[in-house]
Amino acid sequence: MIPSVLPTYSRAPLRFESGEGSWLIEADGRRFLDMGAGIAVNALGHAHPALVKALTDQANKLWHVSNLYEIPQQQALADKLVGASFADTVFFTNSGTESAELAIKMARKYWYEKGQTEKTGIVTFSGSFHGRSNGAIAAAGSEKMTKGFGPLLPGFHHVEWGDTEGLHAAIDDTVGAIMVEPVQGEGGIRVMPDAELKALRALCDEKGLLLVLDEVQCGMGRTGRLFAHEWAGITPDIMMVAKGIGGGFPLGAVLATAEAASGMTAGTHGSTYGGNPLGCAVGCAVMDHVAEPAFLEEVSRKAGFLRQKLEGLVAAHPDIFEGVRGIGLMMGLKCRVAPADVVKAGYAAELITVPAADNVVRLLPPLTISEDELAEAVTRLETAATALEREPA
Ligand SMILES: *Cc1c(COP(=O)(O)O)cnc(C)c1O
Repeated sequence: MIPSVLPTYSRAPLRFESGEGSWLIEADGRRFLDMGAGIAVNALGHAHPALVKALTDQANKLWHVSNLYEIPQQQALADKLVGASFADTVFFTNSGTESAELAIKMARKYWYEKGQTEKTGIVTFSGSFHGRSNGAIAAAGSEKMTKGFGPLLPGFHHVEWGDTEGLHAAIDDTVGAIMVEPVQGEGGIRVMPDAELKALRALCDEKGLLLVLDEVQCGMGRTGRLFAHEWAGITPDIMMVAKGIGGGFPLGAVLATAEAASGMTAGTHGSTYGGNPLGCAVGCAVMDHVAEPAFLEEVSRKAGFLRQKLEGLVAAHPDIFEGVRGIGLMMGLKCRVAPADVVKAGYAAELITVPAADNVVRLLPPLTISEDELAEAVTRLETAATALEREPA
């Protein structure tokens, strides 16, 4: 018999009842240190007073009106995002995959309006993840996500991550855009080197292509800059965000330059919930914290501390771990054992981590985590590793 909740997830037997900062409290009272943050979502941790206040203040006034009317909270958040980024304009969604949908539509509409209707192609990379909508799974293209869901949305040219020759070969007259995560999350915390991101920008400029960045996971302060591409000193034409932008409230956005967005005129796209007063009130409160230079510097400082501790962990447990990678508070532990076993051993040590592809365990703590809590997380990883050495899973 099928469960009443569609069984598409394999869930850990943990039931959290509340959260405080970097901690999750299980129904039985155990306190788990949260190095997953709901998959890079709870940027300010759990029950942050500023977010609780923003949400409850708005909840007492107005929840929803639809985009038939003006929404001041949406305007305010758009102004903040435009003021803090390359973008001239913003569309609000409720999730990362909806942001991917619009990014794809926006790129195609751009070329359509330019009269270059053949430029429907978009180059994407192996190991990428853009969400679970029909467009997003076709964009990522992995068999795991697409098998059985055909016919897939056509037009995606899949290139191996890091394969420059393949990239150049994939660009023909039908390609209008390149879409990439500056740091792959689900793909196993693979950081695109600054030089490669710069080269991508140069290639787009040379060929007249739109550069679409998926910063759903790596954006909103996660890497120590508001957006990850800032490290490379480049800007995209279109960018998807979600996850951290709502701090736990479902919210996403597509940011774009005026030029890239020029095809998206009245009536070409829409959303019933996207940019609703609740989500945008919370989004404003998130932005007020993460866009602060002092906050971002703290993220980088704490990231340096964590990385050093993780290097020590890897050196001490060479049979369990192979290496550390990542940037900011988006770290990956490359494992020599199954990542799922490390995550499970973490649960026994009351630690939350998140598995990824490429044999990696992800560490994505709230950006507000303290140095003491990061040290405690590594201590708990030590406990997990020691348990796996004693009794391999
Ligand atoms: C999570 C994620 C998405 C999809 O976001 P949803 O909110 O789950 O739809 C898209 N791109 C990246 C890089 C992600 O990490």
